[in-house]
Amino acid sequence: MRNTLLHTLSTTLALLLCVAPALAWGPTGHRIVGDLAQRQLTPQAAATVADLLRGESEPNLAGVANWADSLRQSDPARFKLTQGWHYDDFPRGDCNYVPPRDCPGGNCVIEAISAQEKILADTAQPRQARIDALKFLVHFVGDIHQPLHAGYADDKGGNGYQISLRTDIPPQDYVRKDYVDGVMGTNLHAVWDYYITASHDADSHHYADELAARMSVDTAAPSDETGAAGESKDWALESCRITKAESLYPEGHKLDAVYLEKMRPLAERRLIQAGHRLAALLNTALAAPAAH
Ligand SMILES: [Zn+2]
Repeated sequence: MRNTLLHTLSTTLALLLCVAPALAWGPTGHRIVGDLAQRQLTPQAAATVADLLRGESEPNLAGVANWADSLRQSDPARFKLTQGWHYDDFPRGDCNYVPPRDCPGGNCVIEAISAQEKILADTAQPRQARIDALKFLVHFVGDIHQPLHAGYADDKGGNGYQISLRTDIPPQDYVRKDYVDGVMGTNLHAVWDYYITASHDADSHHYADELAARMSVDTAAPSDETGAAGESKDWALESCRITKAESLYPEGHKLDAVYLEKMRPLAERRLIQAGHRLAALLNTALAAPAAH
């Protein structure tokens, strides 16, 4: 009886997890963004971050980078309220931001970043609100740099574009049943969230080390349109334009390691930019001495 109930519960949970659209770079991608930003904080900002994250099991930006996604399990009601904050959608091929059209009710990643930035910078806000704002920002600045998090509305940023991916990369546990005979049944959004960075065999810290070594080169590159400057709207439109310009959409629906290898330098550049801009944002928001 109990086993049957457990079985039913786990089947239901598995189904729920399967139908939920992907909402983020994989955990590794988000940790890398947090790790890169942590290395670029001013002493002032680093001290305030340490103070706000005191008591966390891993009290640094990488350690809290996946908190906004973990709400899906830990606080489903809050996750539901905030899930629109992870992305923005534009009409296909039209990379212009029209707030009433692209961000109804302020529920999109562009406005979420602005709103959480104000809360974090305001020392009169309750401490818990500032802690949550910091955790949201670490995650959302990562998300907005995943090109398909500011992609096209008609297929939900590639979630509706089915892909058969021939790969030897082990899938994440909750989609393992979709991996048959070396072919993963997935979608383009998930390929970008997970498989491109997973195709490089390194844990997040070592991966961040490698990217940090390239950081000064990449952040000064002409392809980086706004450097550390700019704001969330610019970063989203940049993602939208990348989707349009860089042939993220393959011809057909079958992919293999060739696509992952081809796209990985672009994905890595977006992680580097995200880390750099997140640090700049936090250094500004936390420029005032911590309240005592
Ligand atoms: Zn996300």
